[in-house]
Amino acid sequence: MKKIRIVLVAHDAKKKSLAEWVKYNKGILKDLEIWATESTGKIIMEEVNLPVKLLLSGPLGGDAQVGAMAAEGRVDMIIFFWDPLTPQPHDVDVKALLRLAVLYDVPIACNRSTADFLISSSLLRDWERYIGEHKKSEDPKVT
Ligand code: PGA
Repeated sequence: MKKIRIVLVAHDAKKKSLAEWVKYNKGILKDLEIWATESTGKIIMEEVNLPVKLLLSGPLGGDAQVGAMAAEGRVDMIIFFWDPLTPQPHDVDVKALLRLAVLYDVPIACNRSTADFLISSSLLRDWERYIGEHKKSEDPKVT
């Protein structure tokens, strides 16, 4: 069975919180294919010892890569702990990521409680059927 592909991204002020969330949910996450922007991914590999496929660092194009993955149907869910209190040099990429995730109906959690609901969803148990039945009709390319 194809693994669910999850992308993890956290702005600097949120990296500790994301690492804690990953640690807490390690039992579920170990069965998923984890991708992350570079610095976020390195922290997760170091602190939680889970394998992570690294994208570019967020400010260097990593968030844009995640947006492209959403547009191309190459990501199943995104956990993005963005920082609402600090201006980001790559704000346009952050906005594009958020826009494309909504446009392509990719489940995206931007804070810890939403991430908890997403990762504990019973839909995860039958993901392929869910994607097949529900998500296709939400694809903007399907008219
Ligand atoms: P980083 O990127 O994981 O490389 O820090 C995250 C971001 O700033 O969007």
